[in-house]
Amino acid sequence: MRAPSKLDPKASLPSASTAGGPGGDLVDHYGRRIRYLRLSVTDRCDFRCTYCMAEDMTFLPRGQVMSLEECLRVVQAFVALGVDKVRLTGGEPLVRRDILWLMARVSALPGVRELVLTTNGSQLASMAQAVREAGVRRVNISIDSLRPDRFREITRVGDLSKVLAGIDAAVAAGFAGIKLNAVMLRGFNDDEFEDLVDFAVARGIDISFIEEMPLGDTGHLRADTCMTQDEVLPRLQARFGLVATGEDSGGPARYWRMPGSQTRVGFISPHSHNFCDSCNRVRVTATGDLYPCLGQDDMLPLLPVLRDAAGGHTDTALLGAIRQSMGIKPHGHDFDVRKPAPAVVRFMSLTGG
Ligand code: SAM
Ligand code: SF4
Repeated sequence: MRAPSKLDPKASLPSASTAGGPGGDLVDHYGRRIRYLRLSVTDRCDFRCTYCMAEDMTFLPRGQVMSLEECLRVVQAFVALGVDKVRLTGGEPLVRRDILWLMARVSALPGVRELVLTTNGSQLASMAQAVREAGVRRVNISIDSLRPDRFREITRVGDLSKVLAGIDAAVAAGFAGIKLNAVMLRGFNDDEFEDLVDFAVARGIDISFIEEMPLGDTGHLRADTCMTQDEVLPRLQARFGLVATGEDSGGPARYWRMPGSQTRVGFISPHSHNFCDSCNRVRVTATGDLYPCLGQDDMLPLLPVLRDAAGGHTDTALLGAIRQSMGIKPHGHDFDVRKPAPAVVRFMSLTGG
């Protein structure tokens, strides 16, 4: 296994040829242009999903978490470097206090084509309208089961009725797009995929099925629960007459359509249909760590730059650090669900989904 890089953001910058594209855009060593930032605004969450977190989580001290002003500076720097799509994620982004403040400012930035959100839906019943008014264009809402007891088992603490009310509120709020996300979990929800598609079809919204990724030690062997697109797609094709599309929503999902419905069925398949060659995104954690790849440990901490009073808090240093990170974007992940210890020890809730 190769050793991951941890770059010193204050070290001298690499030459332009290794740090970005000609127009100041972000281009990595493999020629992939980065236009999409996924920003985790908190590692905290009101759920404890079994595939995402350990049962007993210790969350970060607040002083280590970026302020919302710092989050905005990070987004502004990425936008100055050609990023035009921003996803707020977590943890659960809607439990972050004053998150609407950040949404309104990010969505108003010239250069931001799309501000989108990933949420577990627990707060949407009361927040969906305000989130839409703050400029969020599309939302992804995670829901792995439509059965209250099972939903509770998977999330450990979640209340399905709140999420269902949240989905209704999101539909009423008039987002340009709503997509449900369901992780395919053998032995937990593998008899519900058709029901989940029916649920999406009834609301005229999209749904994506995700292959479970080995991120963090959740106390179970991922190979026992992980299901792949190749197992599930034929089932859904037989039932719904799914037809492949070349549609690309700018993320990792690939889509299928069905006759007589506007619902698209997507798959996010890092194991069975690797999408790393076309990766266009990087992630920043709530602590300001820039991870060019979800599935590797290479990272560059931005907090020292953001809080460097001696450096005058200049955004020149921030821009330089972000450009520098292109030099450590790895070619792809090395996920292997059969290994008892995950290669990446960070939980998904820390890096941001
Ligand atoms: N709390 C929000 C939510 O659940 O939508 C946003 C953060 S969550 C980490 C983002 C997405 O990552 C969710 O759709 C979740 O199901 C997915 N996810 C979490 N852990 C995962 C894992 N180990 N493998 C695959 N998907 C995972
Ligand atoms: Fe929380 Fe989302 Fe992780 Fe579930 S998947 S524990 S809702 S961050």
